[in-house]
Amino acid sequence: MNFNIAVLDGDGIGPEICAGAIKVLEKIADKYGHTFDFTHLPIGGAAIDECGTPLPEKTIQGCMAGDSVLLGAVGGYKWDSLPVDIRPEKGLLGIRKAMGLYSNIRPAKLWKSLANSSPLKYELVKNGVEIIIVRELTGGIYFGERRHATENGVEYAEDTEKYSVPEIERITKIACELALKRSKKLVSVDKANVLESSRLWRRTVHGYCEKHYPEIEVRDVLVDNMAMQIVKDPSQFDVVVTSNLFGDILSDEAAQVTGSIGMLASSSLGETKRGLYEPIHGSAPDIAGKDIANPVATILAAAMMLRDSFELQKEYQAIENAIQAVLDGNYRTADIMEEGKIKVGCKKMAQLIADAI
Ligand code: NAD
Repeated sequence: MNFNIAVLDGDGIGPEICAGAIKVLEKIADKYGHTFDFTHLPIGGAAIDECGTPLPEKTIQGCMAGDSVLLGAVGGYKWDSLPVDIRPEKGLLGIRKAMGLYSNIRPAKLWKSLANSSPLKYELVKNGVEIIIVRELTGGIYFGERRHATENGVEYAEDTEKYSVPEIERITKIACELALKRSKKLVSVDKANVLESSRLWRRTVHGYCEKHYPEIEVRDVLVDNMAMQIVKDPSQFDVVVTSNLFGDILSDEAAQVTGSIGMLASSSLGETKRGLYEPIHGSAPDIAGKDIANPVATILAAAMMLRDSFELQKEYQAIENAIQAVLDGNYRTADIMEEGKIKVGCKKMAQLIADAI
């Protein structure tokens, strides 16, 4: 089969980790008889330097013309002092919005061979951890009205958390579909004891599930309690649905429980099969250009693209198995390095995974 993949390398370690994922995809294409065409397009800081904007029109058009999109990461010190409207992160928020992506699925999985990398005690993670956070992506406080002003000589700023019933229902549907294939248990996270938007969230999630997915058991957890439970007893969770802001924070916390954010991928989907696949981490400017970044998250993101956008389940599994084999072979990048293991760089890690396919 033939697929066109738009590649948004972005900034910092973005180009290195995308190159790793492309190496693995090329091996898959060879082995399984597919053709992947890659179109590199600018986003974030790189796009600001090249085109004066973090999300050029040609990038939006290129993404919409492709079958799916692979993204590295955006941002870096160089652009930190720019006005908010032309910061690299605007490119990321903009492309998600332009592609109509309203869900972000982040599986936080503790790989068997990396149980020791978890900062939690062995007893807490020995039953395995796989928390799948389904985060609403295009609404809430990141897109709500904001204001920065001075009143009576006092400077203040405000941001607005706003959710509509249809926005909550469509993200609940995505989470329910996932929960159906797994434990049939769904945790919904909110702050309904304080926030009006959370009270609507809770009522809508329950109403929608009772009507459309009665077989799914829904449990509400307040966001502060959730933050505690993730480090106290992470194995209790399977599929979790939550708002943009809470999902952003909790998915980083869940990621940390699994050992390294360099191992975790995410997908953003809307109504169509065209998705945006990316690692959950940022552009790691502190290690950019040193060939020490972990490419696994981006390689897994590419694998999720094969499975969820292209329906290539076998090929997805081949990549997952190859990663497991390389970890079992004791190879580690610096971020997941342990005593007695073999330390490798970004390029070598990607090559090992490609070779193991
Ligand atoms: P970060 O995720 O880039 O880095 C946090 C820490 O994790 C750093 O020590 C980094 O070296 C390490 N790290 C991250 N990815 C790694 C990998 N693949 N291998 C090994 N180590 C890795 O977060 P940050 O430092 O808060 O942000 C840096 C920049 O990235 C900022 O400009 C921020 O706005 C941006 N950012 C972008 C995205 C995105 O593009 N999706 C997400 C988060 C942050």
